[in-house]
Amino acid sequence: MKISNPLLQSCNILSGIGSLYLEKLQHLEIFNLHDLLYHLPFRYQDKTRITAIRDLNIQQSAVIQGIITESHWLKTRRPIYHVQLSDETGCVALRFFHMPNFQQRRLSLNTTLKVFGEVKLKAYGFELVHPEIEFITETEQSKVQDHFTPIYPSTHGIHQNQWRKFIQQLFNSHWDIINQLEWLDEDLLKQLKLPNLTHALKQLHFPSPEESCDSLINSLHPARRRVALEELLAYSISAQTLKKEQLQAKSQIYPDCAILAEKLLAELPFNLTQAQRRVLSEIKRDLNQSHPMLRLLQGDVGSGKTIVSALAALPILAQGHQVALMAPTDLLSEQHFMNLSKWLSPLGYQVYRLNRTTPNKEKKITLSLLAEGKAQLVVGTHALFQDKVEFLNLGLVMIDEQHRFGVVQRMKLSEKAKTHQAHQLFITATPIPRTLAMTQFSHFEISILDELPQGRKPIQTAVMPQDKRDEIVKRLDKTITNKGQIYWVCTRIEWDEEGEQQAAEAIASYLQSELPKARIALVHGKLKGLDKEKIMRSFKLGEFDILVATTVIEVGVDVPNANIMIIEDAEKLGLAQLHQLRGRVGRGQEDAYCILMYKPPLSLAGQTRLKIIRESNDGFYLAEEDMKLRGYGDVMGTQQSGFKDFKIAKIPDHYDLLKYANQYAKTLIQTTPHQADRLMDEWYAQADKYLKA
Ligand code: ADP
Ligand code: MG
Repeated sequence: MKISNPLLQSCNILSGIGSLYLEKLQHLEIFNLHDLLYHLPFRYQDKTRITAIRDLNIQQSAVIQGIITESHWLKTRRPIYHVQLSDETGCVALRFFHMPNFQQRRLSLNTTLKVFGEVKLKAYGFELVHPEIEFITETEQSKVQDHFTPIYPSTHGIHQNQWRKFIQQLFNSHWDIINQLEWLDEDLLKQLKLPNLTHALKQLHFPSPEESCDSLINSLHPARRRVALEELLAYSISAQTLKKEQLQAKSQIYPDCAILAEKLLAELPFNLTQAQRRVLSEIKRDLNQSHPMLRLLQGDVGSGKTIVSALAALPILAQGHQVALMAPTDLLSEQHFMNLSKWLSPLGYQVYRLNRTTPNKEKKITLSLLAEGKAQLVVGTHALFQDKVEFLNLGLVMIDEQHRFGVVQRMKLSEKAKTHQAHQLFITATPIPRTLAMTQFSHFEISILDELPQGRKPIQTAVMPQDKRDEIVKRLDKTITNKGQIYWVCTRIEWDEEGEQQAAEAIASYLQSELPKARIALVHGKLKGLDKEKIMRSFKLGEFDILVATTVIEVGVDVPNANIMIIEDAEKLGLAQLHQLRGRVGRGQEDAYCILMYKPPLSLAGQTRLKIIRESNDGFYLAEEDMKLRGYGDVMGTQQSGFKDFKIAKIPDHYDLLKYANQYAKTLIQTTPHQADRLMDEWYAQADKYLKA
């Protein structure tokens, strides 16, 4: 029997955590005590000492103590409450935009106040906006914190002091276990110059003021490295275990079927590229083995992945077995449905579809045909995963835009194959830097489509400041007269989804007033999935001239007629995302243009990024550069690239640890499998269970 692991208990055993908090925690993928323990602060505040006003630094957060020497409303357009706080060395201004009466009364002259906040420099001197304040009475000695104050990544409705309470409680109630966490060889830790795990976690949650706040958030800090190693080990163990299971699993052998392939190729208006041929032979070799394929196909935008998936299906179809192709949205799945039908129905294979827009009656028929094995080829969205979908002999699953699917969903589909496991091909249009591919996809075989079909005109990219917008718009008139279509993309500024939408609305009405005859559509994140797709579909059908969109714009949608893309605030986006967006144009006969607009002044980093993207159309090169510039631990970067990153480990910062993780994982699986199991459970089991529910 398995010994139960106390860290796998639900967080509700901590006092103060009820169902409400449990749900909020789950949003942050915190399912159990272990996850909470590894929920690390991303920032620290130094409230351990009082800083003399003379010693304040701009943009630093500091605790200041002094007496109030001024306190009144300022007669500004928007009322501001002003307090001047003075100590022996100087004075600072405190500003409040709202101030309840009772609070205002307490802020009387000569009151002693302790405040904490970020120091800004204004024309009149230092200023703190809405600092945290604490009233100090004469009898009470002013206390400062004895360690830095951690700031945790949070979600709506969990305050920072609640996080601190939860973590404090966890350490108190489970100290015996937390104190015993280290299990790696002392020698290994010494060799890597890493602290012990218990110590590392303690240091990160309750850091002593001997360090600096900055060094503690640096991913090269030994404590962060030790924790990252733990995660990489868990990952490595899972990857190796999955790999082993895959190699031991049985699947049907599907030999190459050259006759069908030749028939299909003869019908195509083009020849396959070298890269397409190479990738196909890699896939065919896998299909011809008795264990399931687990392959990731990476192809730059427009490299022709769809025809590869059609050709990959043939050996399975030839044997009378079934193939499923999944896409993340209805629109993409429809696009695949049409392409595959065009290519495969002449060979006698009918393509079926299953997604939200499929009429119920058709859906029902398709489901029963799939169960009987009579429908051989189905294209669909998530609907495919629903438990009621049965296959008789599913031989191959292909998943397009793989990064949008959760790990568990993938497992679910492959489980559908009965006696034998289905071969699996994951297809992604986001080139992954090599280092990242070797970590996140280490248990996959990888195929790369790094060649664009011949005759493609490279997209011409220009970089322009915002004030050229009017000029650009003037030129669009001609494009529209010539029946060209335009994407106008408004990017997300910081985390502000709302702002992005407002920007898009403003641009849409501006364009409408400048180009009264243009048919303009608008899509943004607030639209429901189906509404969004309806607009995209109309755009594809040429019913709109300009599509103003936020960055929610679909990846993978093919609108050959769209040949101009304008991207607002392009300096804010990473290279990978810019490249993805740009890949929406240049799919037709016309010359294609991409205009990257920026808001001056352009930072050095912004300049570098825009220069790189202007000069290269190679997604793989851009992915590497993006990683060099920003690292994959970068939160925005992760979000934008769409890849689920590690929780703690950062690539490339912790890449060197991976080698040790891989070696050690191997040893563990062989020598102490229970340790290996424990680690996998702690890092992955709960999340899976939750997602499956
Ligand atoms: P992606 O890799 O971005 O999914 P698609 O599969 O949608 O690209 O292909 C983009 C376009 O290129 C399609 O119209 C497709 O028919 C065409 N195509 C694919 N392979 C070739 C080729 N070898 N030569 C010319 N055109 C091709
Ligand atoms: Mg595609």
